[in-house]
Amino acid sequence: MTAVPTSTPPGNAQPNQFHPIAVAMVLGLIGALINCFPFPFLPEVELIFGNTMIIVAAMCLKPQWALLTALLTATPLYFTWGHPFAFLTFGLEALTISYLRTKGFYVLFANIGYWCLIGMPLTGFLVWLNLEQGTVYWLFIALKQGFNAALYTTMGCLLGFLLSDQLNANWSQQPPLKKKLRHQLNYAIVLVTTLGLSATTLFISRDLILGAQEVVETTLEDRSRKFAEIIDISMKNQQSAIALAANWLSAIPANQWQQSLEQVHQSYTGFLTMLVTDHNANIIHASPSKLLLVDAKLNVADRDYFQQAMLTQSLYISPVFKGRGFGNDTIVAISTPIFDSAAPNQPKGIVEGSVDLSFIGKVTDAKLGSEAIKVVVTDQHDNIIYAHPSFNLEPLYLFDTERVVDTSIQDRLIIESLPDKQFAYAMTTATMNWKIYTLIDYDVTVKEIEREYLVIFFALIFTLLLTTVLAHRIGNRITRPLRFIIKQVNKYDNKTITEFAPLYQVAATEIDQLYNELKSDKRSVKEYQQQLEFKVQERTKELNEANQKLKARANIDSLTKVYNRHFLDSRFEQIQKAAQRSGDNLSVVMLDLDHFKRLNDTYGHITGDNVLVAVAEVISRAFSRETDLVARFGGEEFVIVAPYISPEALTRKLESLRSAIAALQLSDSSGRAITTSASFGAVIAKASFADNIVCWIKVADACLYQAKGNGRNRVVLDDQTASEQMVAEAEL
Ligand code: GH3
Ligand code: MG
Ligand code: MG
Repeated sequence: MTAVPTSTPPGNAQPNQFHPIAVAMVLGLIGALINCFPFPFLPEVELIFGNTMIIVAAMCLKPQWALLTALLTATPLYFTWGHPFAFLTFGLEALTISYLRTKGFYVLFANIGYWCLIGMPLTGFLVWLNLEQGTVYWLFIALKQGFNAALYTTMGCLLGFLLSDQLNANWSQQPPLKKKLRHQLNYAIVLVTTLGLSATTLFISRDLILGAQEVVETTLEDRSRKFAEIIDISMKNQQSAIALAANWLSAIPANQWQQSLEQVHQSYTGFLTMLVTDHNANIIHASPSKLLLVDAKLNVADRDYFQQAMLTQSLYISPVFKGRGFGNDTIVAISTPIFDSAAPNQPKGIVEGSVDLSFIGKVTDAKLGSEAIKVVVTDQHDNIIYAHPSFNLEPLYLFDTERVVDTSIQDRLIIESLPDKQFAYAMTTATMNWKIYTLIDYDVTVKEIEREYLVIFFALIFTLLLTTVLAHRIGNRITRPLRFIIKQVNKYDNKTITEFAPLYQVAATEIDQLYNELKSDKRSVKEYQQQLEFKVQERTKELNEANQKLKARANIDSLTKVYNRHFLDSRFEQIQKAAQRSGDNLSVVMLDLDHFKRLNDTYGHITGDNVLVAVAEVISRAFSRETDLVARFGGEEFVIVAPYISPEALTRKLESLRSAIAALQLSDSSGRAITTSASFGAVIAKASFADNIVCWIKVADACLYQAKGNGRNRVVLDDQTASEQMVAEAEL
């Protein structure tokens, strides 16, 4: 495809055009201003619309200026995004599409191509390499950027379309796009489809994604609350068991304590172990009872659960701690003092139960039904009581987390030991100030959005392909009848057909109408043409006749209707040459009316003219051969040129002519009879005598002079043929 040359030579703006640098800067600044306010689209996803100006720049400016616009437009993104990728991807975008535009491509198609082949892969690659969590987000960000590009490209193209007149007149350095109707249709359909489809699907998917996220959020909160309730109930149960045990032990003699303790333990299986101490913190009973046999001298005076229960004389729940003596499980102890009825303010010791914390895992795993949601429970000091096995977090340790605060999405957690992962979470505080965390891998959410985007992306590509096929078909439907009409008109013009063929049935009514009008126009033009041709022929004929008449008139003497002197001069040579070729004679006669001045003076010039006409008629009759020529030499003088004649025949003819003139019976207007006569000077010789008429006239004139002198009304002939004969004979 070759570009039509631009109307403006490069770098040489017309007076009414803005300079390309100014245009690039203005567009770039508008783009930058718009990009200062990105549109919050999804949590952590912003749409940018300032790049619309890059599209407008590429539509009307050469690549270097479009690049300038792109760099300006991308500048705010450098600050909001914190990395310079925008300069690279959008700069390349501007260069590529502006270049392709100079080659005659539509910017829309050029940019779809750019983003599919360069823009999205490059964005994905840069994100993968450089961004924190890039390996998770690369596809998501690349797809999002692609959609964003689809949106601002279509917006830019629409803007360009609406402002096309102003752009072409004042700004455009780009060649005008001359495209087939089919391509224009394809462009229009793809433009509208891409804009509509990408905008609606993006916003629908936005709602879906936000909805899904809300569901995740409420599920997490819901679960966390549920677990808090279950744990609360379970712990309350354990507390009442200890309270019950204490009451019971207070009421019965000490020798029954071991048995009663074991009974309580059997009823409440939630305890790993139970024990009873005396007021000195020596363990005196334990369940299971075998524990006591291991080391009978265990003392728990340093334990909170002993000290607090003795001190506060009430039920105490310990933070999580590592058990000692009775195994080293991580436990929570519930303890309460045992009183003697005789000394109600003097506890005899405590009863304690170590809660089996594994129940949390059992409860949460059983209730979850979903592997995705994971639970962590901490005590009042944020030490881990229970953590989902996948976290590999040991109980007792601090649940060390960092909160990621995000304005547009629920806060997320980063667990210290899993720095590469973020978790969406919910947290409920249970009654003992325990915290129940429900967490879900944030990647899962991203992957979901990614899946949505991929579906939309392929839907968009599929739709583009479909519209291309559709546009092709629609274009063909319109252009096929047009092509047919053009062909018919050409054939009609070139006279290969005399009548138009009928149009296809499928043609649009407007095209049908157009064809009908064209047919009738062409027919009238043809008819008119024929009439015109006929008229031209007629006129040419008339003109030729008039021309001939004019020519004849130029050779004829207007009064006497014999040839004029001009014709004599021009024709003489031809007659002389013809006679010379055949070796024949030629004679030239000079005839002058006698006393014509007197005749004029006597009868008037009109009568004189009439006499001239009558004499000319007589002369013409006398010398009427095709080869003879009679001409008026001037005034009342005539010249006769007669070839192929003997001297005798000439003498005879001249004598008879002289008599005929003298015998002319003429009268003037008043009826007076007029007579006239003429004198003749003639020369006859071989035509080769002279080829110049002047020589002949000279001799004839001399003879005429002689005839006048001899009394007029007579013929004097100079016969050169005789002397020529003699010369010839002498030579022989
Ligand atoms: P000559 O016998 O010696 O020839 O005497 P002439 O009077 O005929 O000769 P001249 O040369 O003295 O006079 C010629 C006259 O012819 C003069 C002029 O008035 C007349 N003439 C010349 N052309 C025309 C013309 O077209 N019409 C008329 N009516 N007279 C003409
Ligand atoms: Mg004369
Ligand atoms: Mg005369």
